[in-house]
Amino acid sequence: MHFNEFVRDIVDFPKPGITFKDITPLLQDPKALQQAAEALYVLVNERPIDKVVGVDSRGFIFAPILAMKLNAGFVPVRKAGKLPFRTVAEPYQLEYGQDILEIHTDAILKGEKVLVHDDVLATGGTCKAVCKLVEQLGGEVVQCNFLVNLTFLKGAAQLPNYTITSLLSY
Ligand code: 5GP
Repeated sequence: MHFNEFVRDIVDFPKPGITFKDITPLLQDPKALQQAAEALYVLVNERPIDKVVGVDSRGFIFAPILAMKLNAGFVPVRKAGKLPFRTVAEPYQLEYGQDILEIHTDAILKGEKVLVHDDVLATGGTCKAVCKLVEQLGGEVVQCNFLVNLTFLKGAAQLPNYTITSLLSY
């Protein structure tokens, strides 16, 4: 399947000058949805995984599906103030200013093998913060997988110690 046919460019979203990759056409097509989930699973290549960490909020779409296929648990990483239990926090750089991501302190056990999933890898700041959260809890990031890697933003260069995979690259 040509997944790129199901990802559209939205010019000047969410701000002037940014072209946003919109994955909703892929989500609303039954075959594309199913085949994208399967293709993301195949990218894991039978590596044993204990937890799949999904990133707020579009990472929450495929991460639980991957967790079920991998016989792993699902863990949400959320923006500050959204998680109800005790958390550890990690600041990360936005285009303008900073934000904070959090994970529950009991979400990952020491030594657990973790797959990080998000819809898009752009500059890599978000994923880097997520990997730090996992490692603060003693987890091992086995792989970071994405639907889309915007390679021209060189996000993978921020993540030299991790295996980065994606269904699509631009
Ligand atoms: P980064 O921290 O790598 O610069 O940005 C990645 C985060 O921003 C991801 O959580 C992703 O959902 C979101 N993001 C950045 N650019 C895009 C885009 O063009 N399309 C979508 N769907 N998400 C994006």
